[in-house]
Amino acid sequence: MSPLADRLGPRSDTSLCRTLVRVARSDASPPEVVIAGADVPSASDVTVQRALLAWFQANRRDLPWRRSRDPYEILVSEIMLQQTQVHRVLPYYRAFLESFPSVEALAAAATADVIKAWAGLGYNRRAVNLQRTASYVVDDCAGQFPETVETLRRLPGVGQYTAGAIACFAFEQDVAFIDTNMRRVLHRLMIGVDVPQPSATDREVLAVAKRLVPAGQAWEWNQGLIEFGALQCTARKPACVVCPLQAECKAFPSIQSAIAAVLPGTRRPREQTYDGSNRFYRGRVVAALRDLSNEDAARGIDLRSLGPLVRPGFSDEDIPWLSEVVNGLSRDGLARVAEDRPPYDAELGGDDAPSDIKIRLP
Ligand code: SF4
Repeated sequence: MSPLADRLGPRSDTSLCRTLVRVARSDASPPEVVIAGADVPSASDVTVQRALLAWFQANRRDLPWRRSRDPYEILVSEIMLQQTQVHRVLPYYRAFLESFPSVEALAAAATADVIKAWAGLGYNRRAVNLQRTASYVVDDCAGQFPETVETLRRLPGVGQYTAGAIACFAFEQDVAFIDTNMRRVLHRLMIGVDVPQPSATDREVLAVAKRLVPAGQAWEWNQGLIEFGALQCTARKPACVVCPLQAECKAFPSIQSAIAAVLPGTRRPREQTYDGSNRFYRGRVVAALRDLSNEDAARGIDLRSLGPLVRPGFSDEDIPWLSEVVNGLSRDGLARVAEDRPPYDAELGGDDAPSDIKIRLP
């Protein structure tokens, strides 16, 4: 248990959440869950900090979530940016916040509407999880986001990275956290080449990240790391020749040759074509449910009618397969499945005939 939780003593999750929020808000002293700044940065750390902050100042993109300190808006942006590039996220981010302008609005919305607003962004499960997080904030935290990493981690679906991002980008706390791009930049800068395999563990890179967070400038620093990884020190084509951190970069002497050597041999075998993958069909099912008329959407659609909308040449033999896809969506909260046959009529459709079920958005 953390020192802060120690101070509070044992209590239920709900009241602990509320109390942690209250204590975090009312504490005049610095937060007790101090994550960054455990080690004193060296002179060369300071040089790296200054160079990267200067680079960010000169190169930062004006992104809407960088103008916000609202934890709800930060949460939405962070979830959308998982596995999706900035230029794709931008229109969805604006439209989503217009539809659900507050955590209360998102929590109160019909899940079907949330999934519809997410349409086209992909990985629809993120939308359902995001709404679960919103509901928790509203129901269990009285609508107030926790502010510390430790208390943010209690929100369903919020891991170490997202908790750190909200604590830093909404509440401007000096915390360190790493995602794939930040890990790559820190590894190259402070440890060495990261291909074919990183030589440092995530824990070791995170320790470096904590040491490097400049006191009082964590927001700029972490945004800078993210931007640097997106624009300058990219995975396959880092712009080393024009990099302002060349002199400090441990990977610089060999990164270009290491990447050149590794690319032909490590190119991933062609993945199972996306068009044939289960994920593809999950997306097709959600899209088909989304596009139903209001009447059909309310009633639901059976597998025989849904099949041809999802897969050309669909036949009854494909019903068990489609049933599995639909059940997977149901387990993830992306679809609702209901039986649609009169009770006690064993003749209809045979035993457990999955074609009798009706599917609709939740
Ligand atoms: S020199 Fe190259 S590898 Fe090193 S930080 Fe700059 S862009 Fe990244």
